[in-house]
Amino acid sequence: MEWAWTEIQGKRAHDPVIVDKMICSSARRVYVPGPVIVGAGPSGLAMSACLREKGVPSIILERSNCIASLWQLKTYDRLCLHLPKQFCELPLMSFPKNFPIYPSKQQFVKYLENYAEAFGVKPLFNETVKLAEFDTVLGMWRVRSESKSSGSGFTNELMVTEYVCRWLVVATGENAEVMIPDIEGMGEFASAGGKVVHTGSYKSGEMFKGRKVLVVGCGNSGMEVCLDLCHHGARPYLVVRDAVHVLPREMLGKSTFGLSMWLLKWLPMPLVDRFLLFMSWLVLGDTSKLGLVRPKLGPLELKNVAGKTPVLDVGTLTKIKSGDIKCVMWKQVCPAIRRLKPHAVEFIDGRREKLDVIILATGYRSNVPSWLKEGNMFSDKDGFPKKPFPDGWRGDNGLYAVGFTNRGLLGASMDARRIAEDIAQCWKAESKHHLTSYSSSILLPHT
Ligand SMILES: Cc1cc2nc3c(=O)[nH]c(=O)nc-3n(C[C@H](O)[C@H](O)[C@H](O)COP(=O)(O)OP(=O)(O)OC[C@H]3O[C@@H](n4cnc5c(N)ncnc54)[C@H](O)[C@@H]3O)c2cc1C
Repeated sequence: MEWAWTEIQGKRAHDPVIVDKMICSSARRVYVPGPVIVGAGPSGLAMSACLREKGVPSIILERSNCIASLWQLKTYDRLCLHLPKQFCELPLMSFPKNFPIYPSKQQFVKYLENYAEAFGVKPLFNETVKLAEFDTVLGMWRVRSESKSSGSGFTNELMVTEYVCRWLVVATGENAEVMIPDIEGMGEFASAGGKVVHTGSYKSGEMFKGRKVLVVGCGNSGMEVCLDLCHHGARPYLVVRDAVHVLPREMLGKSTFGLSMWLLKWLPMPLVDRFLLFMSWLVLGDTSKLGLVRPKLGPLELKNVAGKTPVLDVGTLTKIKSGDIKCVMWKQVCPAIRRLKPHAVEFIDGRREKLDVIILATGYRSNVPSWLKEGNMFSDKDGFPKKPFPDGWRGDNGLYAVGFTNRGLLGASMDARRIAEDIAQCWKAESKHHLTSYSSSILLPHT
């Protein structure tokens, strides 16, 4: 997939500064006439397909060796889409009709593979973007990526490539790196033979049969991992540090998400929230009695203001009620764990429990600040666009972000369509300009 970089060579011939800069650098250089997309998750694939539909070629750089690496490599076996399939499809292609309402992760990956094939999306794998910055002299982005190739002998050679492009689309996701909390005594616990696993490496509870497992964090993943552990005969404890909204996945025979979207068309958000909480109380009972205290803001408002996703219960609450999952009560401000000891955990109220394994369901973070050097669009703190939804998709100098809306695949699809529209306009205008200047130089007589 190497494009000729004639345009740059043209500029080099006229601009000695560019020549110097380029000669100083030791990287292999590739000029990309269209956008460079970083990340081949659902957002990157959607982006490339939407661009292609508009006649704009693009390349995708992906650090792992497959598409949708989060789904293929970092999720547990029993995972199904949390939301019904109609809210998770990418632009231009629906899910197959015979897929269930909540497709399994294997079905979702199959859908993505078919999607990539249908739109001719062929990412460049094992390319980790380490640096991207806008070159004001060149008026283009320089995107530096590293890949390991097997060299002669047994060593892996590091290949550095610099992609030069007019448009850069960030599609590295809200979940690029795992978040590991600093729990006192974690080192001691691990060196005494205790196992510490992040949900990103957890596949199934099979290997934890009969073990005492502490699950830290009660988002959708933490709750579901607890359920999985129960099904495999492990003894899970769930540590609930923050207030959390747990809602049934379905209400009145409809998906809670779909029903909320529908109600929001007619009613203000606080009223929809009240309805959701009332229905949850009817279906699930008073969750605070189980140690799951609800936040002050309603579930939709909290999502809107703080990006905190409510947990959609898929059966974990029944197990908490029956005592199969022990829920360590939430205490305001204080974390529930005081420290870890060899083979044990000590809680803030002084209680001690024997423990074999800790599973950290403590989430992920964006990695954008580690590789993208620009001052305006992304926040250095959390690696998300500074402008709130729906305005965070476009930055300066041809920089875009897809999939950072805190609104899952639905948000990513919206971004991809908007960005493709925006780039295509520019692309067409520029090709017209090139065409006009080219034809005028041929057809018009020189004066
Ligand atoms: C367990 C779980 C369940 C979920 N369920 C749903 C659901 O049901 N519905 C929904 O809408 N959302 C769901 N989500 C949200 C989820 O984030 C999105 O569905 C989706 O994966 C986001 O796609 P993405 O392409 O933006 O990010 P990702 O899927 O994270 O893809 C980003 C890609 O960028 C690559 N990358 C990162 N850094 C670099 C770099 N420096 N250089 C090159 N490549 C890089 C990564 O390897 C990765 O392949 C879920 C998330 C999790 C964790």
